[in-house]
Amino acid sequence: MDKLFDVSGKAAVITGATGVLCSEMARELGRRGAKVAVLGLEDDLTELIANQIKQEGGTAIGEVCNVLHKGSLIKARDAVMEAFGRIDILINGAGGNKKDATVSPNLSFFDIPADALEWVFNLNILGTILSTQVFGEVMAKQGKGSVINISSMNSYRPLTNIVAYSAAKAGINNFTQWMAVHFNQNYSADIRVNAIAPGFFLTNQNRFLLVDEKTGEPTPRAKQILSHTPMNRYGVPEDLLGTIIWLCSDASSFVNGVVVPIDGGFSAYSGV
Ligand code: NAD
Repeated sequence: MDKLFDVSGKAAVITGATGVLCSEMARELGRRGAKVAVLGLEDDLTELIANQIKQEGGTAIGEVCNVLHKGSLIKARDAVMEAFGRIDILINGAGGNKKDATVSPNLSFFDIPADALEWVFNLNILGTILSTQVFGEVMAKQGKGSVINISSMNSYRPLTNIVAYSAAKAGINNFTQWMAVHFNQNYSADIRVNAIAPGFFLTNQNRFLLVDEKTGEPTPRAKQILSHTPMNRYGVPEDLLGTIIWLCSDASSFVNGVVVPIDGGFSAYSGV
């Protein structure tokens, strides 16, 4: 079993690795002996997380990387190749939503500014595609690799208010299938592209929707989410790790082009 799920010695690149969910994935891969490139927007945080991995005996580098700038991605790829010499795993973690692109009592759908919509589309879908171009090119040359995209529950059933985020994550599912086929047909049958679709995790990107800023109490939306999650709780970052290790390792060697829900049963529940 240990051999099946072994990721030791594999070189992993994680974008958005300074965030709540992906920093936990970075640390877990480090603990399991993978060489981890912690990529993020914030210089201090990339270093901090890479250092945490090293302090636990792992191997890691921290690199500033903006997934919306190809030059920045290429610079990060050069650093990863210099440090590790190959890329076995790519986790496209950079993503998120923001207030200006979210319908609220103060902002109708009709008034959401184009630049806010564009920001959400770009970060979630364009960033994932550009990152796969840059790091996936190495996998195409190696003829081997595993790419994991981060989708969301709302890609299947759009949630109210977060219009661009829902559409962008649905795009991630489509891109995951497209890219899986493209790699296999044009480069190697040994490159896999999958995604995870997390349910609800309280993190920086959704706190404004789930916690009342003034009282600190759960918003009506948060209560609705929990009442529609049969396991009756938010996920915690650790809940994602088993699936991530499975998708990174040979344990999932024939799993390709799928989106795995990790949602405490949210997608199974009709609400009745
Ligand atoms: P987070 O805000 O904690 O992390 C997002 C990370 O992306 C941050 O480190 C941020 O610095 C980085 N980032 C933002 N813009 C970037 C850019 N241009 N280039 C590179 N990095 C950039 O959020 P999180 O909840 O940990 O989200 C991680 C992923 O999981 C995202 O794709 C998110 O959409 C997805 N997700 C989250 C939830 C949830 O409930 N929190 C649910 C489903 C999916």
